[in-house]
Amino acid sequence: MPTSALIESDRKHLIHPVASLRAHEARGVTILESGRGAWLRDIDGNELLDAFSGLWCVNTGYGHESIVRVATEQMSRLPYATGYFHFGCEPAIRLAEQLIDKAPKSLRHVYFTLGGSDAVDAAIRYITNYYNATGRPQKKQFIALERGYHGSSSVGAGLTALPVFHQNFDLPLPHQHYIPSPYPYRSESGGDPQAVIAESVAALRAKVAELGAERVAAFFCEPIQGSGGVIVPPKGWLKAMRDACRELGILFVADEVITGFGRTGPLFACEGEGVEPDLMTVAKGLTAGYAPMGAVLMSDEVYQGIADGAGTRAAVGHGQTYSAHPVSAAIGLEVMRLYHEGGLLANAAAQAPRFEAGLRELLAHPLVGDARSRGLLGALELVADKATKRRFDPALNLSEKIASTAYRNGLIFRAFNDNILGFAPALCYTGEEFGVLFERLKKTLDTVL
Ligand code: PLP
Repeated sequence: MPTSALIESDRKHLIHPVASLRAHEARGVTILESGRGAWLRDIDGNELLDAFSGLWCVNTGYGHESIVRVATEQMSRLPYATGYFHFGCEPAIRLAEQLIDKAPKSLRHVYFTLGGSDAVDAAIRYITNYYNATGRPQKKQFIALERGYHGSSSVGAGLTALPVFHQNFDLPLPHQHYIPSPYPYRSESGGDPQAVIAESVAALRAKVAELGAERVAAFFCEPIQGSGGVIVPPKGWLKAMRDACRELGILFVADEVITGFGRTGPLFACEGEGVEPDLMTVAKGLTAGYAPMGAVLMSDEVYQGIADGAGTRAAVGHGQTYSAHPVSAAIGLEVMRLYHEGGLLANAAAQAPRFEAGLRELLAHPLVGDARSRGLLGALELVADKATKRRFDPALNLSEKIASTAYRNGLIFRAFNDNILGFAPALCYTGEEFGVLFERLKKTLDTVL
């Protein structure tokens, strides 16, 4: 099919995720054709350095033959196995075992989903079930962070605190609440780490007091907020929030859909901070984008509460046809091998200082107010005035302009609201590729100045 016909057909039929539908109809789609390592090629033959790992998911890079091989083998042997009716399959059992082996020790049980949104949704449903099953049906209020993203399921999108996910969707729901984001660059305390942590803990305590601890089910957070603008809280923040939840008698849920699988250095951000959550949601890097899959991991206490509540005869009514899909699970196992024996975690750790230094150097650029990162997750925040941190007028649509200029310069990253540019390079990046990334990024910023 010629490119123009594809674009026309896309315009007519395909609804794109989180797109301004009218703007998309006018602009048309950009069609990607192939990928190898950190590089993508579009349908017009342009070679692009992907500095966002697809959508923070292709942590391994593109074109891994070993992943293709295990997926093909699994498809030939057994393309599908239900998890219903006490059936199962080997790849899913082995992947669950590996996750439990490598996740924080508090987490003992895994439910596989199709992605991150339904992992969050499953977590919400399991938590609701747990409190009902353990005789505390009044514990139904959920707290999350402003600027947080927890997917776009009908309930989970209410824990997401980005306005576009609520507008015209009748969200948030009355039992969904937020506290301010731990945002050092814009904190009232001027970014002092201890003050940022103390403010966050105090906000959580105040919100729980306002709602009544006996009514609060859980606190959900991303260890580093992704779609809200790569907000990197101070080290120690995650632990302080976890400890506060324990003291307040509410469940602590770490949404590691982005931060999991080496993105911030260790396999999980919780591990890097010595944090043991009650539940954890993962997706993206679990299969590195080669097939859809997510998971919710839970503590033995939550699992036993739900299991005892249902007893020996009643089913726990949560499930999907494609839960624990064998091909996705086989891919997950190979991806896990690549992180560890394949050296990807080690490479990411070795390259992270280069990434951090490259972002920091751009602080000298007139547009850049803040540069922040952990591991291979980072952002630049652009401001109209560095002294006052004043943002650019949204009507200028600067982020969009920067992203399209970058594309023309052969670089892909994500431009968020508030002119925050997000970066999530694959864990396979070489030093040379970081050189290309920063050269093209600087050229892009210079052009739009
Ligand atoms: N949670 C977080 C922290 C995310 O970043 C995302 C997606 O970006 C999700 C949940 C939803 O995942 P999915 O897009 O796979 O449904």
